[in-house]
Amino acid sequence: MEKMNNIDHPQHRIRESLAAKLILSIAALVLLGGGISWYLLISTGRDHLLKAAIEDAASYSDLVRKSTRYSMITFHRDAIQRTIEEIASRKEIDRIRIFDSKGKVFYASRRGELGSVADKKSIACAGCHKYAGGLPSIVDGGDQWSIGERRGERVLTFIAPFYNEPSCFAAECHVHPADQKVLGVLETDFSLSTVDGTIRKQTRDITLFAAVFMALIAAVLYAILNRFVLTPVSLISKGMRKVTTGDLGQRVSVASGDEMGQLADTFNTMTKELSSSRDKMADWTKALEEGIAKKTEELKRSQDKLIQAEKLASLGRLTADVAHEIRNPLTAVGGFARRLFKIAAQPKEKEYAEIMLEEVDRLEKILRDVLTFSRDTRSRLEKHDLREVADEALQIYGTLFTEQSVKLEVHTEGELLPVLIDKDQVRQAVRNLLNNAVDAMPEGGTLTLTLGEEEMQNVLYMYLRVSDTGPGILIEDLPLIFEPFFTTKKTGHGTGLGLSITRKIMEEHGGLIRAENVKGGGSSFALYFPYQSEEDSLEMKCWEFMKCGRDNDASLKCPAYPNFGRVCWAVAGTFCEGKVQGTFAQKYEDCQKCEFYNKHRRSS
Ligand code: ADP
Repeated sequence: MEKMNNIDHPQHRIRESLAAKLILSIAALVLLGGGISWYLLISTGRDHLLKAAIEDAASYSDLVRKSTRYSMITFHRDAIQRTIEEIASRKEIDRIRIFDSKGKVFYASRRGELGSVADKKSIACAGCHKYAGGLPSIVDGGDQWSIGERRGERVLTFIAPFYNEPSCFAAECHVHPADQKVLGVLETDFSLSTVDGTIRKQTRDITLFAAVFMALIAAVLYAILNRFVLTPVSLISKGMRKVTTGDLGQRVSVASGDEMGQLADTFNTMTKELSSSRDKMADWTKALEEGIAKKTEELKRSQDKLIQAEKLASLGRLTADVAHEIRNPLTAVGGFARRLFKIAAQPKEKEYAEIMLEEVDRLEKILRDVLTFSRDTRSRLEKHDLREVADEALQIYGTLFTEQSVKLEVHTEGELLPVLIDKDQVRQAVRNLLNNAVDAMPEGGTLTLTLGEEEMQNVLYMYLRVSDTGPGILIEDLPLIFEPFFTTKKTGHGTGLGLSITRKIMEEHGGLIRAENVKGGGSSFALYFPYQSEEDSLEMKCWEFMKCGRDNDASLKCPAYPNFGRVCWAVAGTFCEGKVQGTFAQKYEDCQKCEFYNKHRRSS
């Protein structure tokens, strides 16, 4: 946290900023380079000007010496004095003095100084007297100069000795010993105010130029750096920051082919790939979640079915026990009622006995239905044509149809192939539908029986449909009609088991039942029986049919019942997945008898 605070602090940001580092480095380099150039330019200029001033001083000294030479030899003191005064009148010359060998001022541009004695430590004496302090420089071997300050101005003092020459010691006018080397010294003071003014101006100009030049160099360098380095780095860094917050749609546009451009391209590729990976992961997660939800739903449905099946199984066992117990006394009651009917003499007695017989019949029918529904059916499957079963089922309805003015129509749609069925069970299923159709048309109507073929989810079915022109089924009753004991018929007319039994029979056949209301009135019930050719059944191994049962994959070529369906799932479960569970376990016994299973187990 503290670290973050440090990073956010403006001073820290500046210190850590690449731009600031580069700018400071450039500024330091420009300042160093500019400073050195500035110093060299100024010192060289100053040296040049000084050298020129010294050369001027030497020329003037020479001029004084040469102008006074003749007067010196002829010893014309006035002429010498005048010459000196004249030359010293120049603006740049402060004063001119000539010392004799004793250091006494012999001639001076300022007459007041005549006769005064030079200080032995002065530069005029030091040349010959070897003053320990030394001299700043020597011009032309014997000339010397020094710079001092007078009245707030710099002054260049130039010393030129007068050497003893033959013309001097041989002259008639005055006598100098021949062994005297230096006869006197010429001291000329030059004012350096003009030179200093030029140096100051030069320094000012160079400083200004250097400052402008350095500022220009710094600006150009900054512009280049900003264009090619700082801006791309800042863009990439901003993009990176956004990526860390999860915004993977970031793209950086750096239109150059240099390293920065390549870095931006790499960044863009990276974010693109990260984004597509994240999308893929999101898709996988979604697919996974959907898959889990689907499987959970399937599991729940299976569990519900299992619970329902278990409940029905217990109820069925109980009902079967009760029905069985009632059946024997009911048979006795029926027998006695028939005997009573025979021996009854009075019409009233006969009528009562008849009522008893009818009620016993009704009870027997109910018991039959209950037992059929609760019995663990053992199907004997054989190949039969559905038309054959329909004809057999219709045989007993001739009189009833006539009595109730029901007109029968039979149609066939498409090719009708034989299917594997338990004929007795299917006949009963068809009769249940016929009974309901007749019951739905008490005032008469048309009963249509249609036979045909239809393909659903890769499986070919043969169907038998019973339609009537009755009132149809109430929408709210549709989900309930297959529930056991659901009936809308008058008491004594329905048990509510007919359609439950029919559905059970269809399940045993691996088929399905479909109920719907018909447009224009009436309802229709269709029984679908899966068709399977001999070859189909041999194409897949038994355990592979598990997929057919569980995955709704239309590309699978799934065989029909009995080689495919719950029974075979159990077979496959036993064979491949170990212990079978739930409803599969109940079917385990049947699987052992499954012809298909045994055939394939032998061959594999
Ligand atoms: P039940 O015939 O003993 O009532 P079913 O299980 O055969 O029992 O029928 C259940 C209910 O379904 C009927 O009571 C009726 O309401 C409805 N049903 C069945 N078939 C038809 C039909 N053809 N037309 C109208 N309703 C029907």
